[in-house]
Amino acid sequence: MDLMEKIVSLCKRRGFVYPSSEIYGGLAGIYDYGPLGVELSRNIKELWWHDMVRQRDDVYGLDGSILMHPKAWEASGHVVGFTDPLVDCKKCKKRTRPDKLEGWRLAKDNESGQWKILKIGSLKCPECGGEIIPKVRQFNVLMETSLGVLEGEKVKAYLKGESCQNIYLDYVNVVDSFSPKIPFGIAQIGKAFRNEMTHGKFLFKTREFEQFDVEYFVRPEETGRYYKKWKKIRWNWYVKRMGIKEKNLRWRQHSEDERIFYARDAWDIDYHYPWGWDELEGLHDRSDYDLIQHGKFSGETLGYVDEKTKKHFIPNIVECSGGVGRTLFATLLDAYHEEEDKKRIRVVLKLKPQLAPYKVAVFPLLANKPKLVKLAKKIYDDLKLQFNTSWDDRGNIGKRYYSQDEIGTPWCVTVDFQTLEDKQVTVRDRDTAKQERIAIDKLVEYINNELKQ
Ligand code: ATP
Repeated sequence: MDLMEKIVSLCKRRGFVYPSSEIYGGLAGIYDYGPLGVELSRNIKELWWHDMVRQRDDVYGLDGSILMHPKAWEASGHVVGFTDPLVDCKKCKKRTRPDKLEGWRLAKDNESGQWKILKIGSLKCPECGGEIIPKVRQFNVLMETSLGVLEGEKVKAYLKGESCQNIYLDYVNVVDSFSPKIPFGIAQIGKAFRNEMTHGKFLFKTREFEQFDVEYFVRPEETGRYYKKWKKIRWNWYVKRMGIKEKNLRWRQHSEDERIFYARDAWDIDYHYPWGWDELEGLHDRSDYDLIQHGKFSGETLGYVDEKTKKHFIPNIVECSGGVGRTLFATLLDAYHEEEDKKRIRVVLKLKPQLAPYKVAVFPLLANKPKLVKLAKKIYDDLKLQFNTSWDDRGNIGKRYYSQDEIGTPWCVTVDFQTLEDKQVTVRDRDTAKQERIAIDKLVEYINNELKQ
């Protein structure tokens, strides 16, 4: 099994990620988070919110609706131009984005949203080695729905194609409520929907997903400075907070052909996935396009008045847009670790403890000794008040360790016969497998200290 298969299988088996609607045969590109996946995903979002919103005096949080006025999607250019160019393979019929194939160059026409081929490159299908038909087909990935109940009176609406659009629509509200000093940001974690035509890369490309966005409003002349600053912030966040190894990350600047027309500059933080380098998060200098467009279509003035000069101007936007699912996937790939242990392979998810679904697991040494079980249950109940805690009394201790390692639990606490005497438990560390005796009444402090590391 390759790494991708191992991760997909672990996710299903241990309750991180399930294919959606599996009993009906599943739905391509749609997944459900199971009991451990939802914990991991919440921990990722919690850290993002803590770092990008709560710890910053210059960023305001928002939770916008999924449905917006349909005109917003015309203004943003999505109705016409949210298209993906795709080519088909003659042999396996799989669709591929040609710009992901070697040597291809494409450019999007601003007015029509259509893609033009500038140069045809490799015609070898990356899936089966078959021949690619050099004809680009275009697909609009914006998902449609309708508002209203009476046939004939229904109004076409769209599910959010990118979560950041609420931020532009609520820009004036935030400015009016908080009178923020520029530069300032508005941040959101929200669902987005895209009729993606290529699947098969697990959580990397799904049709329903969550994005986390910071839209940072700056004076036009200060764009470069803050763009640089945010690049540093977001890179460090993936390394320090998600624990992703720097060797598996890189910066990639979009070429002029590839860049969306209103973006003055665009850089991706790429991760080294099992199929190669690909996007993890996009950082864009979106210029003043969004505020101008929504201003035009709504008739509102979406600008900023300089406190001192009283001059009105349209701020530029520096955007940092990442995906929760993609980050979760990259984090799992990065944390996956195998080592030879006696006769079997020990699988360890070396997740940062702050991300781990369970922080600690509690075991009675033997499940059929009521005194041990009673004390272990008491410790479990106490720890549960502070940390997400797992209980396991099946099989032997070795098997329980293996099982917790595989889901990334950083510490396992065992209650044994000596515990009944000295009120100390054995705490075993996931990464080093080292064991130490800790007093029961010092356990919370011990775990809290470790979590601060
Ligand atoms: P890509 O071409 O790599 O799919 P994109 O350039 O269309 O991504 P953006 O529109 O810049 O992506 O979205 C910002 C972020 O949202 C991406 O970096 C990614 O983390 C996440 N994202 C975008 N599309 C998807 C998707 N279909 N499934 C999961 N995450 C996604």
